[in-house]
Amino acid sequence: MGGKIKSDQIDGYLCETGPIGFIDNKPRVLEVVHSLGLDSDLSVSKDASRYRYLVVDGKLQLLPMSPPAFIKTKMLSWPAKMRAIMELWSKPSPPGKDESIAEFSRRHLGKEIVDKLVAAMAVGIFAGDAEKLSVKSCFPVMLELEKEGSGSLLKAQMRRSKRKRAKAKAEGPQKTIKGPKSEGMVGSTGKLTTFRRGMAHIIDRLKERLDGQIITGFEVAEIARENGQYEIKSAAGEQVEADIVVLAAPAYAVSKILANLDEEAAKLIGEIPYAPVNVVVAGYAKSGLGHDLDGFGFLASKREKRGILGCLWNTSIFDGQAPADKVALRVMVGGAINPDATALDDDETLKLVQKELRDIMGISNDPEFNHIIRYKRAIPQYIVGHEERMVKISSLMEKHPALFLTGNAFRGVGFNDCVINAEKTAERVVEAVKEKLA
Ligand SMILES: Cc1cc2nc3c(=O)[nH]c(=O)nc-3n(C[C@H](O)[C@H](O)[C@H](O)COP(=O)(O)OP(=O)(O)OC[C@H]3O[C@@H](n4cnc5c(N)ncnc54)[C@H](O)[C@@H]3O)c2cc1C
Repeated sequence: MGGKIKSDQIDGYLCETGPIGFIDNKPRVLEVVHSLGLDSDLSVSKDASRYRYLVVDGKLQLLPMSPPAFIKTKMLSWPAKMRAIMELWSKPSPPGKDESIAEFSRRHLGKEIVDKLVAAMAVGIFAGDAEKLSVKSCFPVMLELEKEGSGSLLKAQMRRSKRKRAKAKAEGPQKTIKGPKSEGMVGSTGKLTTFRRGMAHIIDRLKERLDGQIITGFEVAEIARENGQYEIKSAAGEQVEADIVVLAAPAYAVSKILANLDEEAAKLIGEIPYAPVNVVVAGYAKSGLGHDLDGFGFLASKREKRGILGCLWNTSIFDGQAPADKVALRVMVGGAINPDATALDDDETLKLVQKELRDIMGISNDPEFNHIIRYKRAIPQYIVGHEERMVKISSLMEKHPALFLTGNAFRGVGFNDCVINAEKTAERVVEAVKEKLA
């Protein structure tokens, strides 16, 4: 239970197998946390981690987070900055075209910003390639902004900020939402948040609450429909009958499970590609590290041609990540932009990581601790055409009114998306039960 979410304490280091946290800006997710009685177990990222870095031409550069910082940054040329200002005169997207994140962003901001900044963003969220990922499926808010700003994202942002300021003025001082310790407003940005004992804390609590009502460790091999019921068969030959089925496994697993029930849907679902990623948690003595870890960490875009996608400075983000006087770094290797790097064996992977950290951050010490997590298929890639595929899948699933799909393969890869989509699915299940009982 929990899938990618697993928090292992090893030699005093908190090794998160999957997500390290979630953004605390989704009231629905915070309500789930609240209903599980976990408000006081939330741990909000430290203030210092608001600084983020990019590797540009092999060097760490602070990511500009405000218009003055954007003007001053040395990571972009003046023509690139001027091109970004021209965004105010951008034209709306060509109708009906599913553009890649890179295509869309080049139209708005020009090539240099895409190669240096936008591509790194695609790496950070999807371990993906901005040239292949669909803007419509990965960042639908960009299309909303484009529409709102009559073609210009900047115009839309300025209008939104103006409206927000006017609303804030009219409402007076606002309350913070109960739950997170961020003291922040629950707005569009939010703060990265985890649980004191790691992300698996929420899974453990769910497990406790569902005690006696769930079966785990049941690897579904196939689903068949017999006499108005589903027969769920396990790989070990067991069988369970169900009126309603929700599949929340990765796309490649769902595809196998559905192969006999609906060949066409199974084929389409099985075509959703995944990026491979290896994660290395490296622990060092704090003293003499040669870097003060003054931020969240860094990302490296495809143009940098590095084996690593980036590195999170875990101990600068959250408390409780490493023993006292030690620091923990979390390095992501491979992804869609460098899948071959995930084929390296453990020794080669650690050598690559150490070389990259030396070149990029100037860390020449050997780590005192290493832990590697390997994923052949880590994160689903919503490539161009994903939305069209989803429309076809949804239409095929109409033939199966008591069979539901959820999970990160379809409509959002983050923890928040998974929780929100699972809740929506649960609501549909309740409706289906009511219909059955009517
Ligand atoms: C390295 C990494 C870092 C990430 N970092 C973040 C982050 O910091 N913040 C964030 O918001 N998101 C992050 N994500 C994304 C997020 O963690 C995942 O998208 C989310 O946890 C996926 O949840 P899921 O339940 O859809 O899929 P999974 O976690 O993949 O769970 C699928 C479940 O299906 C089960 N299953 C598979 N096959 C079968 C079968 N045949 N029968 C029965 N069960 C089956 C598996 O055992 C598993 O329990 C990260 C992902 C990775 C890989």
